Amino acid sequence: MRELGAYDDILAHTAEPGRPNIRGFRYVFGAEGHREIFTMPLTPAEYGASVHRTAFLDALTAHVDPACVHLGKRCVYVAAGPGARHTLRFADGSSAQADVVLLANGMKCAQRGLVTGAPPGAAVSFGDTLCYRGLVTREGAAARGVDTSFWSYPMVCLGHGKHIVIYPIQKGAVINIAAFTATYDVPIGHPSTKHDAALPSLEVVDTAELLAAFADYGSNIRAVLGCIAKPNRWRINTVYPHLPTYARGRVALLGDAAHAMLPHLYAGAGQGIEDAYLLAQLLSHAQTTPANVEDVLKVYDELRRPRSQRVWDESTEAGKIRDGCGPSGFTIEGIRKDLTGALDYVNSYKLGEDVLQAELMLKQRGVYA
Ligand SMILES: Cc1cc2nc3c(=O)[nH]c(=O)nc-3n(C[C@H](O)[C@H](O)[C@H](O)COP(=O)(O)OP(=O)(O)OC[C@H]3O[C@@H](n4cnc5c(N)ncnc54)[C@H](O)[C@@H]3O)c2cc1C
Repeated sequence: MRELGAYDDILAHTAEPGRPNIRGFRYVFGAEGHREIFTMPLTPAEYGASVHRTAFLDALTAHVDPACVHLGKRCVYVAAGPGARHTLRFADGSSAQADVVLLANGMKCAQRGLVTGAPPGAAVSFGDTLCYRGLVTREGAAARGVDTSFWSYPMVCLGHGKHIVIYPIQKGAVINIAAFTATYDVPIGHPSTKHDAALPSLEVVDTAELLAAFADYGSNIRAVLGCIAKPNRWRINTVYPHLPTYARGRVALLGDAAHAMLPHLYAGAGQGIEDAYLLAQLLSHAQTTPANVEDVLKVYDELRRPRSQRVWDESTEAGKIRDGCGPSGFTIEGIRKDLTGALDYVNSYKLGEDVLQAELMLKQRGVYA
């Protein structure tokens, strides 16, 4: 974000304006008493900033030339021909021509088959996970006599087949709650739990359902959950099985369209941004031309697919550990052991390294001079 010039604008919207506000996560058991597990420390280079999505997008879009952006368009058809320019048609009747089409339209990406050769739905699996989301204002909770002091630090409250992630947003005035329940009796993608496109991915449910799902949690946690008037319940779907490629011809996938994952390492959007960074550097490279762009996109696929799919795998594993299904067991020692270093691979990304690697690969293949 520093490199993109958006860092200071993002930091201005954290709970501690001007500073990254996620400097570690405190892990406790959700059951009454909240036995302390550990605080996962982060190094200053790994500190995170929790900001509202709108503030984050505003910080990024401020650096985009508005003349290059056409909003409010829904692409309904992409006519792709080998070697030819592609034609995109939009729901408003307009169309556009392009040398390269980048599909960044999320997990439901209707045009994914242009890259994978399979029907779009074939790539989507239910992640065996539900997420109840809600916001609680400290003011509102106080008015109901609910003490929110327990919730001042970013925290994860663990239980059997469930966990809650809590962190302050909007400069600390609001508590953001993501409460997950999951089943682990069959693996993701198993026919018995496969994605059902007819089921809504988001439903507003009663607070009673949320409280019932966390009936075994401590009274102070339940009191705050009880302040969420209308929890949103998300069925978390993922792109799985892993796609065999992110690029075919002059069409490439990025972001959730390529690798939607469970959110347990807070990394899905970050992976999309890494994809976009590499693509932007390669497509604007002085040696990239319409004649060699297919080779360039192949290299994009070879570099981005293994990394983002490994992050997918590690995110799934992180959920299991939090939900009592980690390899070392649901004890303080077991959880500490399994979670220590869980973010290392996600945080290992060095901006620009994959650009250098891509340039080297393209030179070795005689695509770049
Ligand atoms: C509960 C939860 C918590 C999460 N927490 C984090 C986190 O802490 N950190 C993190 O990095 N990630 C997190 N994620 C993941 C993150 O939200 C996604 O990875 C990210 O939003 C993906 O961005 P995207 O742009 O690829 O797709 P999307 O956000 O799905 O955006 C796709 C866009 O394309 C548009 N679109 C769709 N079809 C068309 C079309 N035909 N024509 C034109 N436009 C179209 C859609 O309207 C949408 O605006 C979380 C996800 C969940 C579910």
